[in-house]
Amino acid sequence: MIQLIRGFKDILPGEVELWQHIERTAVDLFTTFGYGEIRVPIMEKTELFARSIGEDTDIVEKEMYTFTDRGGDQLTLRPEATASIVRAYIQHKKYADDPVHKLFTIGPMFRRERPQKGRYRQFYQLDVEAFGIAAPYIDAQMIHMLHLLFERLGVSQTEAHINSLGCPECRPHFREALLQFLAGVEGRLCSDCLRRKDRNPLRVLDCKVPDCRDAVADAPAIIDYLCTDCQDHFKTVTQSLTRLKVPFFLDKRLVRGLDYYTRTTFEIQTTLLGAQSAVAGGGRYDGLVEALGGPPTPAIGFAVGFDRLVEVLAQSLTITAPSPVLYIAALGEEAKNVAFDCAIHLGQAGLRVEMEYGDKSLKAQMKRANRLGAAHVLILGESELATGNAVLRNMATKAQSDFPLDGLANALETMLRG
Ligand code: ATP
Ligand code: MG
Repeated sequence: MIQLIRGFKDILPGEVELWQHIERTAVDLFTTFGYGEIRVPIMEKTELFARSIGEDTDIVEKEMYTFTDRGGDQLTLRPEATASIVRAYIQHKKYADDPVHKLFTIGPMFRRERPQKGRYRQFYQLDVEAFGIAAPYIDAQMIHMLHLLFERLGVSQTEAHINSLGCPECRPHFREALLQFLAGVEGRLCSDCLRRKDRNPLRVLDCKVPDCRDAVADAPAIIDYLCTDCQDHFKTVTQSLTRLKVPFFLDKRLVRGLDYYTRTTFEIQTTLLGAQSAVAGGGRYDGLVEALGGPPTPAIGFAVGFDRLVEVLAQSLTITAPSPVLYIAALGEEAKNVAFDCAIHLGQAGLRVEMEYGDKSLKAQMKRANRLGAAHVLILGESELATGNAVLRNMATKAQSDFPLDGLANALETMLRG
């Protein structure tokens, strides 16, 4: 038997209802806040991710599914959606009519990480991006919207961790101080960090290796190096969040060590997930649109880990697909004809009806109706055809009533709707 790929998974009926519920709730919320859906390909030129995510990141260094296609192109299955959305924004000159565009997308991402609970090689994200707005209000509104999403879904144990990463004005001063600090703890850093530290020292602060985390525990905090503009920006974000009553925690250690991340950065963490506690992450990337060939455009976005959100919600919420309102138990060809026409009519009328297509005993058919949780069963056997009356049984009350075969579908429709 051929099994699926390690780190990949099927989302089966019975599980998928929760995914659908989250997706409907999110789409509804994002739409209310003025975000329009964009669908981008799951594959792009490798260069797009290398340039946007950054060569020195874990994702680009060791997690991407990259291959050479038959025409010799270097292609990559997307590890995240921001790069593709930025590419689309630039490629379709969306900035030409109005630089402000608010977009979201939902879909699979691919990273070749070590599979474990909350960490998969194909996983899903709800991704939201806002282009063309420099004002800190959009930062606060996004975090507020994210908080609302969790609230509407009934997830209470979440906290927004926020920090500011500064800008090309103030970051160099911090970089200087960090480099000096790192020089003193070199002996305690992992080989990846040693290699990265000169080119992209912020990445060291984001390393997951416990020894590295210990080594940088006393590293300088970027928040202490912000220029006045970045300080003001961050102040408006935190003051707005306080006014909006969004619980947040000022996390000086939080970095998203990508070159193009600027200013506000945030992560939503939950205590309900164990080790993989980040259920969403995001931040500003005011330099990326320009770096990828577009006009200078401020931007901010976030991605929710869909799989992790499902795991959190599954702890408290079960959603099941609706059961059929009617099961038609039919015995014999003539009865099946009547059952079929009836089922088609009721289906067109928007009622969920199941019938027996094969040749099963009445007992077997009743068993299946029970298993499907049908509210009613209509029995159509030879004797019913002979007397011109079908029997409808209410499965909850066991009450039975007769329905003349003449005008059966319409009569059932009226009854089942009522
Ligand atoms: P982590 O620190 O958990 O590796 P990350 O910083 O790599 O997360 P982001 O790139 O910020 O993650 O992606 C946003 C969200 O996507 C994460 O907060 C997480 O919920 C989810 N996510 C990331 N990688 C995976 C994965 N391999 N499997 C499942 N969900 C993931
Ligand atoms: Mg990761």
